[in-house]
Amino acid sequence: MSYVDEVYDYVVEKNPAQPEFHQAVKEVLESLRVVIEKDEEKYRKEALLERIVTPERQILFRVPWVDDKGQVQVNNGFRVQFNSAIGPYKGGLRFHPSVNLGIIKFLGFEQIFKNSLTGLPIGGGKGGCDFDPKGKSDNEIMRFCQSFMTELYRHIGADTDVPAGDIGVGGREIGYLYGQYKRIRDVYEGVLTGKGLTYGGSLARTEATGYGLVYLTEELLKDHGTSLKGKTVVVSGAGNVAIYATQKAQQLGATVVSVSDSTGWIYDPEGIDVELLRDVKEVKRARLTEYANARKSAEYHEKKNGEHGVWNIKCDVALPCATQNELDLEDAKALVANGVTAVCEGANMPTTIEATEYLQKNNVLFVCGKAANAGGVATSALEMSQNSERLSWTFEEVDSKLQGIMANIYKSISEAAKEYGMEGNYVAGANIAGFKKVATAMEAQGVV
Ligand code: NDP
Repeated sequence: MSYVDEVYDYVVEKNPAQPEFHQAVKEVLESLRVVIEKDEEKYRKEALLERIVTPERQILFRVPWVDDKGQVQVNNGFRVQFNSAIGPYKGGLRFHPSVNLGIIKFLGFEQIFKNSLTGLPIGGGKGGCDFDPKGKSDNEIMRFCQSFMTELYRHIGADTDVPAGDIGVGGREIGYLYGQYKRIRDVYEGVLTGKGLTYGGSLARTEATGYGLVYLTEELLKDHGTSLKGKTVVVSGAGNVAIYATQKAQQLGATVVSVSDSTGWIYDPEGIDVELLRDVKEVKRARLTEYANARKSAEYHEKKNGEHGVWNIKCDVALPCATQNELDLEDAKALVANGVTAVCEGANMPTTIEATEYLQKNNVLFVCGKAANAGGVATSALEMSQNSERLSWTFEEVDSKLQGIMANIYKSISEAAKEYGMEGNYVAGANIAGFKKVATAMEAQGVV
């Protein structure tokens, strides 16, 4: 049996009931087969793959808090410090009822390669909690965040592990988490990114993941002789990534005709009104029905069981920006039948393996999240640099660095794919390019 297959079986055996983690590992290992098989005995002897698929440290903790009625609630907190070969652990915190150890491990594993692709010195980690922020008061969110940090603080630090936001964790939550860290540790340091601008945050961090996704998509299209100008784009999600991807795509001349949330989706053929969307989602924290009520050209569709409405809309480019496995084989077939030319992932692993293969077989340009959404963590690393030098850079400075980073990522994933005879396979390119730097650093640092 080949070493790659042995390690995949090992992962499934050692990590039962973690299907998302198995899926993420499978995708990476399949891409690495060509690299590993060139020097299989060396890698096997070093147990390099067993080491890379095993987190350096996994922290599980209780998060007790008191709701507004005086009832004690208990949630499960997680931080997985996956790999620190090239820098301190870096990766977001997700607050969503679906969070469990397997989800955090899939996200942490992806983060290792994503962070490596940015070219910046950051290792891979991820964390979160099965807490549901929906419908909670600001005070409940604050008490929950304080309790979460009261445990997490002992495991993190500006040079050790630097969490950020993810689903359910935005500026408000980062503020409460930072306040509690500072209170307990009595140090003012860049221990979290995505901070507010008055206390060490970076301009353009809020926009970075969505903007970065669109910068990379534009690079991809440019390389294939076209651009976003005049294109029809379908976006899923209506959170941080979706909002700023929509804004940047429209600035570059595309028309974004959809957004979605967990209960329904909007079709707006005249193009999404980003300011209205921001008001509904960022200010009022309301459902998309409010967007439809305020805009004549918009249709609201309730999400029916198992249906992902936006993928049936005719478009040139699709940007999935909500959550994992939101685009399955049926959706991929609908997109291809409607003539899609490019799919770039804003979310982490939103496309199932079968859907990815179908899109690739049908010559759709496909870039996976670990490359396409790396602009968020890259700008977080820029926030860390600004915190270390106690300076803040202008929006233009950060945005132009972000554009350069996304262009470099596109270049390195397309070159890696070409080097291994898989031109145009950007999934393989991303996994190979991300892996090589981490593997070389791990080998240099010995058996640790
Ligand atoms: P937000 O919480 O801001 O938004 C998430 C959006 O996705 C919301 O519209 C939400 O709907 C929807 N959503 C979440 N879970 C589900 C679900 N189970 N089913 C259907 N819809 C769902 O998160 P972000 O925009 O920050 O993150 C979106 C994706 O991008 C995630 O995969 C995240 O890991 C990834 N990502 C984020 C980065 C960042 O910088 N924020 C960086 C890199 C990747 P509702 O409002 O109804 O909950």
